[in-house]
Amino acid sequence: MTEVADQFTEERTGEVARISHWIDGQRVEGESGRSGPVFNPALGVQTGEVDFASAEEIDRAVQAANRAFESWRTVSLSRRTELFFRIRKLLDEHREDIARFLTAEHGKVLSDAKGEVARGLEVIEYCCGIPELLKGDFSEQASTGIDVYSIRQPLGVVAGITPFNFPAMVPMWMWAPAIACGNCFILKPSEKDPSASVYTAELLKEAGLPDGVFNVVHGNKVAVDAILEHPDVSAVSFVGSTPIARYVYETGTANGKRVQALGGAKNHMIVLPDADIDMAADAAVSAGYGSAGERCMAVSLLVAVGHAADDLIGAIQERLPKVKVGDGMDPDSEMGPLVTREHRDKVASYIDRGREEGATVVADGRETTPKGDGFWLGVSLLDHVKPEMDVYKDEIFGPVLGITRVDTYDEAVKLVNENPYGNGVAIFTRDGGVARRFQFDVKAGMVGVNVPIPVPVAYYSFGGWKSSLFGDLHIYGPEGIQFYTRGKVVTSRWPDPATSKVDLGFPQTR
Ligand code: NAD
Repeated sequence: MTEVADQFTEERTGEVARISHWIDGQRVEGESGRSGPVFNPALGVQTGEVDFASAEEIDRAVQAANRAFESWRTVSLSRRTELFFRIRKLLDEHREDIARFLTAEHGKVLSDAKGEVARGLEVIEYCCGIPELLKGDFSEQASTGIDVYSIRQPLGVVAGITPFNFPAMVPMWMWAPAIACGNCFILKPSEKDPSASVYTAELLKEAGLPDGVFNVVHGNKVAVDAILEHPDVSAVSFVGSTPIARYVYETGTANGKRVQALGGAKNHMIVLPDADIDMAADAAVSAGYGSAGERCMAVSLLVAVGHAADDLIGAIQERLPKVKVGDGMDPDSEMGPLVTREHRDKVASYIDRGREEGATVVADGRETTPKGDGFWLGVSLLDHVKPEMDVYKDEIFGPVLGITRVDTYDEAVKLVNENPYGNGVAIFTRDGGVARRFQFDVKAGMVGVNVPIPVPVAYYSFGGWKSSLFGDLHIYGPEGIQFYTRGKVVTSRWPDPATSKVDLGFPQTR
């Protein structure tokens, strides 16, 4: 058990743990004099204090990564594959420990936290195939005696800035392909739930990753700006809210960096009159309230077409009282608290806002909130939500699900296509022809057909359209490999030397 894990597996003493940076293979205490609180959202108490990095501390991490890059980029693909298998095994063995950090600092229930780690591990599994993924093209005899071939090389030092809602999986989307491609990585995790990142760093070291290849620096805007302005950072991956994604993209690219910045979402789930209503209601409740609605792929708006609306609301209403809200460490809980008190209050304020704007409050989560000091809010449902209302337009990012009623499929698709966000979208129908037309018509990056949270598997890439993504390349999968490498084309001509020697050994890939 590592030092970081001890904080959560030992009986809690009530002390506030200091959460420090990880630079060049070791824990480094911050010296900026700035830090921020980390809470256990189910208890409503502060459990940690995380150091906030200064520009000098960011520079120290970048320098460590730069030094490590010189040798890391020379490590053969076979050795990298071997290492990634070890990383995969070790993280899998500690899956539950990682998940406990997530539940303790984010609040999501332990089963959901384990699911998050599992989806992150899939990206690591994909990266075990890095020799295949980095294969280039070769054209023999492009001209007489001349061959042409393409190779992909790492960028150098690359950075990832991640949101609070997936403290393990989203970093894995970034560091795994970045490192497998031969880069060295600086992670700036969310300051709200930073411990899983430091724990991951310890595990990567234990697996044999050389010092300096993976570094963690904590902080807020100061740390982010220092990354965006550092001349030795070649690329930045960002996942978070749309205003910050836009800022990171604009600042990073103005400083000459390659940037992919994934932003917020307002994911619509369209339910056509021919849909299986029970299936749609199960999906709406699961995708609307899972992880307390704090998922970028959460369904936050149902678009009920024609007579689907009344049936759907009835079916959802039946299910709502059964959703068990409670401490994520309790195996009976299905939905945990929100991440901070401020966020809970902001989300709760949308219930009154919706009523004032003319929506019908079918369920008010404040009435079903568990007792205690945790950042609790029960499940809420708003009907008759109209596109001009704030509860329609804003990304609420909590357990408040809205329903908009329309008469036709065309109206439903128009709503989705006119929305400034374009992350995920789903359609529920039994009609394959309509579903096919939908995937053709709809302006969003990830489409579900009778699947409410269509997060692509690791060998496809994840990303939205419109204000849900700034940059050209989606994250992880083939586009992730492309993002973390740059191409080179070699045109070569050789004299024809007949060099050879006898070697009876079986050829080894080392
Ligand atoms: P956030 O934008 O507040 O923070 C994301 C990161 O940016 C954090 O590391 C934070 O420290 C940093 N940051 C915050 N304010 C900053 C500032 N002013 N300048 C520079 N950096 C700053 O997002 P969050 O609240 O942590 O996460 C929730 C948001 O992330 C939601 O909008 C959600 O939709 C989005 N998200 C999107 C995806 C996706 O794939 N599109 C995935 C997960 C989360």
